Amino acid sequence: MTLLSTRSDGFIDLAPADYRATVLCTLQMTPTIWSIHLVLEGEKEFNFLPGQSVWPRFERDGQVFTKIYSIASCPSLCPEIELCISRVGWSSNYMCDLKPGDTIDLRGSYGMMTLDAVPKQDIVYVAEGSGIAPIKSHIEWLFQQENPPNVWLFYGGEDPSEIAYHALWKDLASHNLKFRYIPLVMARAGEEFEQGRPEQAVREFIKKTDSLLLDICAVESRVDEIKEALLAYGFNSESVRTERFCSF
Ligand SMILES: Cc1cc2nc3c(=O)[nH]c(=O)nc-3n(C[C@H](O)[C@H](O)[C@H](O)COP(=O)(O)OP(=O)(O)OC[C@H]3O[C@@H](n4cnc5c(N)ncnc54)[C@H](O)[C@@H]3O)c2cc1C
Repeated sequence: MTLLSTRSDGFIDLAPADYRATVLCTLQMTPTIWSIHLVLEGEKEFNFLPGQSVWPRFERDGQVFTKIYSIASCPSLCPEIELCISRVGWSSNYMCDLKPGDTIDLRGSYGMMTLDAVPKQDIVYVAEGSGIAPIKSHIEWLFQQENPPNVWLFYGGEDPSEIAYHALWKDLASHNLKFRYIPLVMARAGEEFEQGRPEQAVREFIKKTDSLLLDICAVESRVDEIKEALLAYGFNSESVRTERFCSF
């Protein structure tokens, strides 16, 4: 099934446009990561592919600038979207401090690490921290489809404060044999989490790499480390995609 044919009119206009987003609610999911629910209104209906992002516009010291945030929810919820944001600096704090009813202008949707159809191959996802955002959108969309592939989620952080949606992933894994969830932290944190980096765990859990797709999302400094380790392990470079969280 392709995403582009799931609406009754058979066509989704994905060209970016301007929207006004109103905050529905915000939720502190971990000591460092927030979930922000928005509803978007604009001249054009808002649509996106799993894995795409929006650019909120900010004003600070009289200067207008934008930052990009991946959409963490499934396209079927449009015009509502969820963002998943780590508090690391001025813009992310601004977003996490928004209150229900606040509005912010944004433009979207944009992005390359997307899904527009259910892949025939099985997929390995590797995420760290808020890098889970686009991958959550992928996974939620895949498991709404009739015949999803097998999906592995290797999700890492320094400690449990960098692991969001832990209960959601555990629940999905317990109800769906096609989904496997391997949470990892560097600090010792009890039996729920493996200890180590996701790229090490992939080598332990995945023995045959040649027919697998691999999508990686983390902060910029970690993406290349993860990618290089997994290419060296045997993943096919043509089957690997990355999304780098960096500041522009
Ligand atoms: C394609 C794309 C999608 C993105 N999607 C998300 C998202 O869904 N959620 C999200 O939280 N951020 C996301 N980011 C990062 C986001 O755009 C901002 O760069 C981030 O919020 C930092 O901006 P700031 O003004 O708060 O802090 P800044 O002062 O600009 O940055 C502070 C420091 O934090 C680092 N940093 C940036 N993002 C993160 C992060 N997520 N986790 C840890 N450290 C970080 C920066 O490299 C910098 O060293 C995305 C970036 C890109 C390029």
